[in-house]
Amino acid sequence: MKRVLEILLFGLVTFGLLTLFSCEKEDLPIEYNIDELVFLIKSNQLDNYQVEESKLSELRNVLYSKKYELEEYLNIFLWESSLYGYDFSYVKSHPIKLVKKENLYFQDRRVSGLAYGRDNDELIHIEIWWPHFNNEISSHASFKIMFHELGHDILNLNHSDDYVMMNSNINYNKMSLEDFINLIPSLFIIK
Ligand SMILES: [Zn+2]
Repeated sequence: MKRVLEILLFGLVTFGLLTLFSCEKEDLPIEYNIDELVFLIKSNQLDNYQVEESKLSELRNVLYSKKYELEEYLNIFLWESSLYGYDFSYVKSHPIKLVKKENLYFQDRRVSGLAYGRDNDELIHIEIWWPHFNNEISSHASFKIMFHELGHDILNLNHSDDYVMMNSNINYNKMSLEDFINLIPSLFIIK
């Protein structure tokens, strides 16, 4: 009998604790879910989701420290550009060719990426030296390459002294994630 009471009591206490914790959880304000945001940005579904200004740097830190498929870099570029007031929604209604190459050369010189769709708003065509891009450099260095090519292809930018649009063989792995994030505006803010 004592044993039965013990089990009953244990059950009641456990039930009580579980109820208490689940109530507490429900009463808390809705937590900002960074994984959900990253998913929405990657899949280009952020239209109805307001990202609080104060959360942007945390979000970028998570977002830019991962590797992605090429189309996801494009979605993230489109999301960033929308924060600077651009509307490139037309991009998705035209052909998009994002090609992974085993090797990539331009005029006999090895290059990280090439943009063929520049000055043609009805085509996005980018080729990436994929083994280098995906395996040899940091996540934010991959972003630097892809944003550079998208800068040519979508923003129709030339090379310049601005970090992302520089035409040089920088040692990508020397750049910190923080440096890269701080340099993103140089791409989108029209001078
Ligand atoms: Zn270039």
